[in-house]
Amino acid sequence: AKEAGRNTRDYFNEDMNEDSRKRSLLEQNMYKALERGEFYLVYQPIWSTDGQNIESVEALIRWLHPERGTISPLEFIPLAEESALIHSLGEWIIQESCRFVKQLRTCFGEAPVEIPKVSINISSAQFLRGNVADILNRELAALSLNGTDILVEITESALMMDQKRIYSQLDNIVSQGIDIAIDDFGTGYSSLSYLKKYPVKRLKIDKSFIDDLVTDKDDQALVSGIISLANSLSLKTIVEGVETQEQLDILRQYGSPMIQGYLLAKPMTDDLLLDLLKSRLAQ
Ligand code: C2E
Ligand code: CA
Ligand code: CA
Ligand code: CA
Repeated sequence: AKEAGRNTRDYFNEDMNEDSRKRSLLEQNMYKALERGEFYLVYQPIWSTDGQNIESVEALIRWLHPERGTISPLEFIPLAEESALIHSLGEWIIQESCRFVKQLRTCFGEAPVEIPKVSINISSAQFLRGNVADILNRELAALSLNGTDILVEITESALMMDQKRIYSQLDNIVSQGIDIAIDDFGTGYSSLSYLKKYPVKRLKIDKSFIDDLVTDKDDQALVSGIISLANSLSLKTIVEGVETQEQLDILRQYGSPMIQGYLLAKPMTDDLLLDLLKSRLAQ
């Protein structure tokens, strides 16, 4: 029995080692991938309440791995967040997003169109390190961009962490003219008091509330409630993950949120987004 017990534990340890070996391999690969330029951003349109304009685009990271093909951020962002890599990766994401804003301005600066803002996902780890406001400031200045050209997305769960540190970062970001959106709104365990406490301008309602919207009366009550709460606090709402016309029809009755979802557009490369914006301009 003793023997069997030890074996079990050894197997367990081997599993753990195997698991952590894989992790650290992926982590080392990520550092190399960053140097080799294997990461890229795609952009998903966020449509204005009337559905006529692309008000903003969310920058979403992808990893084109030489052997494995495209790897989802759901797989590698959590790993990056467990190591210091999230800081260099996060900085690269900010730089690349700003470079794209500059490209949009160069392309459409003279045209009579609203240039979409680029919405950047910032990890809680970046906020906790406490230099993300400075990085944003530096990158905007380097390209002569305005804070109003970009948006910052922070998850609801990040707001629950080191509140003093997060608050001072957000305060600095807002002072640069950048609007802040709460991502994955409704999925945390928070009280709503932080809507008063933090200088946020937008709520992004999580896709999990939208999936069953057409049939689930509770989801309908929650989503319409969140939208009217947001409206009465003068916050903009963005609804994520809209995939069907039926969902869109229901949402339109709820005080006109902005819409992001496969129904209207999937995330696309910078070139494809430029083509889309140009073709809309030509109409
Ligand atoms: P998120 O910030 O909630 O991003 C929205 C996700 O929903 C994206 O997945 C987007 O492609 C997906 N989505 C949008 N509309 C639809 C729809 O109609 N149907 C379905 N099925 N999905 C839809 P993606 O790009 O795979 O990103 C997953 C998550 O990875 C993000 O969730 C975010 O938490 C993280 N992530 C992605 N890019 C970045 C980044 O640049 N920085 C950081 N820190 N995290 C990122
Ligand atoms: Ca997001
Ligand atoms: Ca989200
Ligand atoms: Ca999410």
